[in-house]
Amino acid sequence: MTGTVYLVGSGPGDPDLLTVRAKRLLETADVVLHDKLPGPEIIDLVPDDRAEDVGKRAGGERTSQAEINERLVELAREGQTVVRLKGGDPFVFGRGGEEAEYLAAHGVPFEVVPAVTSAVAAPAVAGIPVTHRDHASSVSFVTGHEDPAKEESAVDWEALAATGGTIVVLMGVGRLPDYATALREAGMAPDTPVALVERGTWPDQRVATGTLKTIVDVRDEAGIEPPAVTVIGEVAATRERVVEWLANERDDAAVVDDG
Ligand code: SAH
Repeated sequence: MTGTVYLVGSGPGDPDLLTVRAKRLLETADVVLHDKLPGPEIIDLVPDDRAEDVGKRAGGERTSQAEINERLVELAREGQTVVRLKGGDPFVFGRGGEEAEYLAAHGVPFEVVPAVTSAVAAPAVAGIPVTHRDHASSVSFVTGHEDPAKEESAVDWEALAATGGTIVVLMGVGRLPDYATALREAGMAPDTPVALVERGTWPDQRVATGTLKTIVDVRDEAGIEPPAVTVIGEVAATRERVVEWLANERDDAAVVDDG
């Protein structure tokens, strides 16, 4: 009997934000394939003898997507119950879609376990609602991984700027200078509020805020590193109005604001 593969989202990192289903599956699966994105507190929940790290980089090579796909099929064909654990939601920039298609093409039964995506949760815990009746009627989730100067760029920054809604960029720490410039060239005001939320809901979560004009300097001064989301739009200023009363800043979180 072929086993089932569960494409499970871990949520943004705080184990309290796992779904009940994700937690049950982590406790019962024969093997859990994961990388580092779920964060230290979630990874600690997976017993060592059932964990397989497919995201190693320091020292060992990072397992390729093709190898992960094959491994999922191999384990399932051995009859094992497999959890493929992914940070955030498995179908939001997580390559979960590719894995689902591969499993289907190879006749392996699978289930998708949706989760709290960092695209919404990281801003939220920083006091930033991605939509707001007064400030943003739409929100776009965008990869910042691409070079905006690339001719065939899949992300149309000009069109995004024109929506007037919130833009949440994932995988966008490195290329922040490029798309901040692209958005300004597309006509977005230099004083548009921007926030960077690093390791949202992890014990060492940090938040840094600025504007489209200052945010690159803010990033550099704070030393913001992946994983982090960039929130661009009027909603980012909500944080200032609520932060004093925001109880879900994690106790030991260092908060960096450019004032
Ligand atoms: N499937 C994930 C996203 C995977 S892409 C989700 O739904 O959240 C990887 C990117 O996710 C990172 O580069 C970062 O932009 C974002 N990310 C994931 N976890 C995060 C967290 N706890 N805090 C801030 N950003 C996070």
